[in-house]
Parts: sequence; C-alpha cells; structure tokens
Amino acid sequence: MHKLLAILLLLVMPPGAAAGPLLLKADAYLDVASGKLVKPAEILVDNGLIVAINAAQWPDQVETVALPGKILLPGLMDMHVHLDLDFERADFGIVVTESGAEAALRSARNAERTLLAGFTTVRDVGQVHPSLELIDVAVAHAAEQGWIRAPRIIAAGHMISILGGHGDLAMAEGLAEGRLELGPEYGVVSGVDDAIKATRFQIKHGAKLIKIHATAGVMSLEASVGARQLSDEEMVAIVAEADRHEIPVAAHAHGTEGIKAAIRAGVSSIEHGSMLDAEAIEMMRERGVFLVPTNGLMDRIDFKLLPPQKRAKAEFVSPRMNQSLSAAIKAGVKVALGTDAPLIPHGQNAFEIVKMTEHGMTPLQAIQSATTVAAELLRIDQLGQLRPGWHADIVAVDANPLEDITALQSVSFVMKAGEIYKGRPD
Ligand SMILES: [Zn+2]
Repeated sequence: MHKLLAILLLLVMPPGAAAGPLLLKADAYLDVASGKLVKPAEILVDNGLIVAINAAQWPDQVETVALPGKILLPGLMDMHVHLDLDFERADFGIVVTESGAEAALRSARNAERTLLAGFTTVRDVGQVHPSLELIDVAVAHAAEQGWIRAPRIIAAGHMISILGGHGDLAMAEGLAEGRLELGPEYGVVSGVDDAIKATRFQIKHGAKLIKIHATAGVMSLEASVGARQLSDEEMVAIVAEADRHEIPVAAHAHGTEGIKAAIRAGVSSIEHGSMLDAEAIEMMRERGVFLVPTNGLMDRIDFKLLPPQKRAKAEFVSPRMNQSLSAAIKAGVKVALGTDAPLIPHGQNAFEIVKMTEHGMTPLQAIQSATTVAAELLRIDQLGQLRPGWHADIVAVDANPLEDITALQSVSFVMKAGEIYKGRPD
C-alpha cells in the first residue's frame, strides 16, 4: 500500500522534485552582494525556498546532499534570450518551415540546455516564430508547472516593431511582397492604435515583459543598423499601456538617437545599446535605466559567413558596442547580463559573464550582472542571492569564480526552486 502510494507520488511530482527538505553541504558559498566567500556552506532548502544557512543545529532526519569541494552561488540569469530560435539548421528559415508546435518543443529543448548550464532564470525577449499563439509564454507556463526542465522564464511574446522593421519577419527573411504580412497581434505596427493593440495582445496572452524595436538591427535587412524605427508617439503609448499592467518595457536599440528616444519614452532597459554617447549614458544613470549589452556574440559570429550587407553592419557596430559598454560600466550604469542566445548558443550563456570582465567589470561585478542586477531589472524580490527566505535557486562550481571567472562555464550542480536538475550525488 505504502509502496503504491510512493510510486503514485513519484508519477505526479515534477522532474527533479525533492521529496522533502534538503540540506546542501559544500565547501563554501559566495555572498554575491558583498563578494565574501563564506565557509563552510550548509544550506537548508524546503518548499522551494532557502530556510537557513550555516545554522548551529539542523533537524534530524533531513536528507543531506554532499557537495564536497564545491562552491555554491545563486542561480545565474540571462536577460536576453530567444528560446525558439537556434542555428541547428544554420539559418532563420526554421521560423517559416516549422510549425508553432515544433517551435515550442525546440524552445523546451533550448530551455533545458540553458537550465543545465546554471541559468535558472531567463527573460525571453521575444519569440521569433510567427505563430499567433505565444510560444515563449507557453514554455514559461510549462516550466512553472514542472512539465519540462527549464529555467524560470519571463516571456515577452511577440516583439513590437514597425511594418518593414527589425521585427517584421517578412522583411528579415527577405520574403516576396504579400508573403507573411502580419499585423499588431504579431507585433507589427503602424501607428499608436496598432502599438496599443500589439501591447494589449501580448499582455492578454501572458507576456510579463514587452519588447520593442526602437531602431533597426544587424540581423535584418535594413540598410542602417542604428536608424530609428518606432516613433516617439508609438513608444510612449506602448510604455504607458505596459505601465498600466505594471509590466516593464525592454527596447532593442543600437543607434544613439533611438536609444535616447526609448529612454525618454520610459523604457526599463536598453538592449544592445551599441552607440551610447555621454548624454545617453547620463540619461540612463539618472533614470536608473538598465543596459543589457550583448557584446559576447560578436566574438562568436564569423563575420565572413554573413551576407555582405549584414557583415558590413556587424563590422560597423562591433567596435562601437565595446566602447559603449566600457563607458557605461565606468559611469556606473546598471548593467544586466544578456547573451542574445542563440547568437551565443543556448547553454553557453556563461561565456558572456567571462566577456564582461574584458570590458571593465571585476569578476564580482560580472557575477552581479547575472544575479543581483538581473533580479532588480526583473523586479523579482528574494531572487539572486543566497539568503534565508529567498528562492532556492542554487548552482555549484568547482573553483572560486572570483579568482577564475571561467569556472562559471562548467556548472556542476543546478537547483531551481528547491529541486535538483543536475549533479545530485548518487
Ligand atoms: Zn535579441
């Protein structure tokens, strides 16, 4: 009878679910707020939360997870991914040849890779697949319910872009006139009414973030990488609408004028931020607007393989991105980690943390960009640090990342919401 009950319980429990409280015992943990390495690390986890750390006494009967030689830190976060896209087939073509159902399964696969790399929270800043149904929201819900092994996902639904702009898929794919002409539900807008409808549609169907294209981009077919796209009026309307739902707006912006226009419209974060001047940096600092740079991908793309126009834009923007990021870090702009995965492959997200240290961050700052700063951008309390009462998102590495930041590229233990997804000792 008891055995049967145990089997039934196993069947209904989400993957990786813990049966009860767990006591993690490792060599040390990193207090990412202070940069202090605390020894030893004994962390009691129950019900998805951290109950206590290094208490004088632990309850009897608690299951212990021994992690000798390991250093614990909070789960990492990537603020800029696109889970429904990857380059398994080396082009954007999958978005028009795969069904939405296939794209959802592809997203789940990419989400699992991300989680197992130690990234327990991500922002999906826009699905690429042109299905009416919001794939990234569906994957976020599946993750919440434990159907799939995936990070916490904050999903944007469709990106909001001008007709013929960076997010207009027919344009990005160079499709013939009349092919895949999409409207505001899909994020393609012309005017304030469309912009409001596009925002409301994403939020109606579960988006917890709105993503807009303030400027053109590298991977689409516009002539200029930094030219402005959404108008002031459209951006102001989108931000006001999202704000009424207490939902933040993230703005893809490369060019200086588009960056400033998005900041003035009230967005929470500038994505890419490739051409920041002193005034833009000061505006961001003053208003607490976050920068989510995506510089690492420039080291991962072989420019020679790009078609000539995209290659020229990439070569133009790459050095400017690096100058902008270094200047922003120096000025004290809040910088949160983002990879633009799959441009850095899903599951290799920590590459970007390493890159941050090459642009002027200390190793601690780079870790904070993927923990405390990211949590602040997400407006999620009790996430991003190892503290009693906070979410039990915990990863382990084999070396002190303050001394060797590349240790984060081989995370050997992953817990999300108190459940172990990788590295459970036998
Ligand atoms: Zn992106």
